Amino acid sequence: SPMIVSFGEMLIDFVPDVAGVSLAESYAFIKAPGGAPANVACAIAKLGGNAAFIGKVGDDEFGHMLANLLKKSGVNSDGICFDKDARTALAFVTLKADGQREFMFYRSPSADMLLKESELKLDLIKQAKIFHYGSISLISEPCKSAHMAAMKAAKQAGVLLSYDPNVRLPLWPCPEAARDGIKSIWDQADFVKVSDDEVEFLTKGDPKKDDVVMSLWNDNFKLLIVTDGPEGCRYFTKKFKGKVNGYKVKTIDTTGAGDAFVGAFLQAVAKDPNLFNDENKLKEALVFANACGAISTTQKGAIPSLPDKAQAEKLIKEAK
Ligand code: ATP
Repeated sequence: SPMIVSFGEMLIDFVPDVAGVSLAESYAFIKAPGGAPANVACAIAKLGGNAAFIGKVGDDEFGHMLANLLKKSGVNSDGICFDKDARTALAFVTLKADGQREFMFYRSPSADMLLKESELKLDLIKQAKIFHYGSISLISEPCKSAHMAAMKAAKQAGVLLSYDPNVRLPLWPCPEAARDGIKSIWDQADFVKVSDDEVEFLTKGDPKKDDVVMSLWNDNFKLLIVTDGPEGCRYFTKKFKGKVNGYKVKTIDTTGAGDAFVGAFLQAVAKDPNLFNDENKLKEALVFANACGAISTTQKGAIPSLPDKAQAEKLIKEAK
């Protein structure tokens, strides 16, 4: 089946063993594989799709553990590089009692930031149907240049570009730099997915309002999607817009819900790139993506909770 190449960071999240504490209060941490682009690749493979990951980790225990996990998950790992000197990135993450997420990163610099243009497996990218990326890889050099070169190669080869920016303020010098950085490659994408929080950050407007969302529209886009957590998602194209309701599930941990959603949606696009022009087909793909996002919240961790096709179809059927 058509290949989707996901580019960017793969790292270890350390998550407190109990919910609702600050990082300082936490007594013990659980090691959880993470990095949105790596999660997306795993989500696609779990659904039976053809996924590859490009990125860099340290030549250390954690880096090899992550690369092996991807391989075991069925993701093509030919594009993974190992840095001899720098360590695999670490992020300490907690969902505090007030619902706010607190991040602390160990990246000074970490291996993911050191991926060089010369290390890119361009053959992999040129063979793909879709090239997917986030915004963490734009924060510093040399990774930023590698990211730009990969996008350029994909575009020249006629590969669809998919962008899922993530705002991680502690990683940028200031909020303005984050906004500018995220927007700097905005017009390149065929498809952009943002969450309601990201719409608010980027526009400083009310993300529930469609005209606020549309201020993010670019005429090069084929599709803009806003995810609204448990409420599902909204879609915007040149010709139509609408909303697809989410699913009620017993949510335990929402980490990676957006990645499960994106993986499921990209797998549908890989099979039928004309999805963008047919509202009914698009809605069907978004129903499936919502189901995958919902299921991913019912267990701890981003990767262990990714659904297969049968699980998602079961939830859709039961909810009817
Ligand atoms: P991430 O935490 O990965 O950054 P995100 O903020 O990008 O996630 P969300 O809007 O939280 O994305 O979630 C993506 C999709 O997953 C939603 O559109 C929805 O379909 C599903 N989802 C998320 N949270 C829930 C929930 N609590 N219950 C049911 N479905 C959910």
